[in-house]
Formats: sequence, C-alpha cells, structure tokens
Amino acid sequence: MRDELRADLHAHTTVSDGTLSPTALVELAGRVGLSTIAVTDHDHVGGLDEAREAGARLGVAVIAGIELSVTHPAGDVHLLGYFVDDRSAPLLGELARLREVRERRAALIVERLNALGVAVTLAEVEREAAGGAVGRPHVARALVTRGAVASVAEAFDRYLADGRPAAVAKAKLSALDAIRLVHGAGGAAVLAHAVTIPEAFREPLVRELAALGLDGLEVLHSKHDAAMRARLAALASELGLVPTGGSDFHGENKPDVPLGSVSVGPEVVASLRGRASRAR
Ligand code: AMP
Ligand code: ZN
Ligand code: FE
Ligand code: FE
Repeated sequence: MRDELRADLHAHTTVSDGTLSPTALVELAGRVGLSTIAVTDHDHVGGLDEAREAGARLGVAVIAGIELSVTHPAGDVHLLGYFVDDRSAPLLGELARLREVRERRAALIVERLNALGVAVTLAEVEREAAGGAVGRPHVARALVTRGAVASVAEAFDRYLADGRPAAVAKAKLSALDAIRLVHGAGGAAVLAHAVTIPEAFREPLVRELAALGLDGLEVLHSKHDAAMRARLAALASELGLVPTGGSDFHGENKPDVPLGSVSVGPEVVASLRGRASRAR
C-alpha cells in the first residue's frame, strides 16, 4: 500500500523558526502516519541528533536536511539540502557564520522597532529563538507576547515583511555557493517553493540552477496549487530533476499548514538519496 510509506520532506523545528522541538516534531510525524520526515531548519543542523534519536525510538525515518537562503535577482530563493552530512566542517562553519549575521540583524531589527515606538528588547527576541537560528518569526512572536500585535501575520504585515519599516536584510549565499555547500556535505540540492519566485523569473531560474547542478524541484508544497504543481512537474521531468514535496511545517507559526498535509512516496526519497550519493 503506497499510503503506508509517506514522507513529508520540509519541516522546521525550534532550532530555527518552527514551534515544535525536534522530538515533538518526530512524535507528531509518527502520529499523523508519516514513515519519513526531513528536518529542514534554516541555517542550522543542530536539531538532527535529537530528531534521529526520537525517530529511532518511534520507527520514523529522519532525513538530515537544511534550508538555505540564496541571493538572486529573481527574489526570495530558498534552497533545500537533503541527506547532508551534518558533521561536515565546511557546512558547519558556513552555517555558524550565517547565524552570526542573523544575531546582528536581530539587534538591528529591534533598534528599528524601538525607533518606530514599538517597545521590544533583544533579550525578548532571543528568548523566543531559544539559542537557535534567530529570524523575523522570533521577533514577531516577541511582539505577540508583548501584545504589540495580535498575530505573527500582523507583525509581518505591519513591520517585518520585505519592504516594511523594520525589515533588515540577512546574509545569503549565491546560488552556486549554496549548491556547492550542499554537494560538499554529500547532499542533494532542491529548489524550495518556487511559487515565491515571480512568474517571469521562475522558469529561467530553475533552468539556471539546473545548469549549476541542482538535483530536485519542490513540486508539491503547501503554497502550490494544482496548476503550479503541474507546471513544476513538467519542468522537473524535462530537466531531469527529482520532483520532491513537503508541507513546510512551522507549527504554530503557520497554523494553517499541518504536518503531513503534503507528502511524497518512497520512490521520491530513493531518487533523492541516489542524487545525494552521486554528490559524495
Ligand atoms: P528570516 O529568515 O528571518 O528572514 O524569516 C523568514 C521566515 O519568516 C520565512 O521562512 C517564513 O517562515 C516567515 N515569514 C515570511 N513572511 C511571512 C509573513 N508574511 N507572515 C508570516 N511568516 C512569514
Ligand atoms: Zn521557516
Ligand atoms: Fe523557505
Ligand atoms: Fe521552509
């Protein structure tokens, strides 16, 4: 039965901007009937040991993942890495650097908010981040805790979304550097949620990344409608990219996206693993 082996290949934990611990995420994966979960935190692989430990206990396979932000004229480009070696020194070094920039950026965002008359402290933001990769969702949660806004979404709409008054740029890798970093750690590189790329840039971007060694395309995603899925599936097939899928689960930070609401079968996981071992 194909339904017995479902994999959700895109999920975040408290190590970045999800609200479930790695253990709680894997427990939930088991409860919703997933056989496999990829943990894909932003700029951090520090949740993987805990996730694997829970997975071994519960019989849920855990794929070591990462999500990187890429700077590109096309806009907000996110690259997923799968089956990465999370002991890889170059990977760990680069992730530490990216997180350092995130720390400085969080301080700048707090300064901007204070200048706008919104009372919030860096300590409150850091408390939300709990030692993980600090980002705008943690600032948003600190504002909710303060009562300055009613929801994370309102915090983004009023202050934090790109182009809003307290948005500050973060460090990003070039597409080539991001793909190399994933391949260097033995992983497969996959373009995440292409729906966030403006239409005119989308297909050229996928072709460009494919030429740089991209391994897969996230065809199924909570923000992709049927038409988008069909277009991306055709593109993946034409370019020889593995058509992957995942919900992009963030717990309470995205309450309308349940874990396992997007999933793929074991054949996708096997193809992805094949592309990863080729990178080694
Ligand atoms: P950062 O990595 O700090 O730039 O934060 C980006 C993250 O914030 C994304 O990965 C999303 O999870 C979240 N995010 C971005 N825009 C919004 C929004 N409008 N509402 C809620 N969350 C958002
Ligand atoms: Zn996220
Ligand atoms: Fe993303
Ligand atoms: Fe994500």
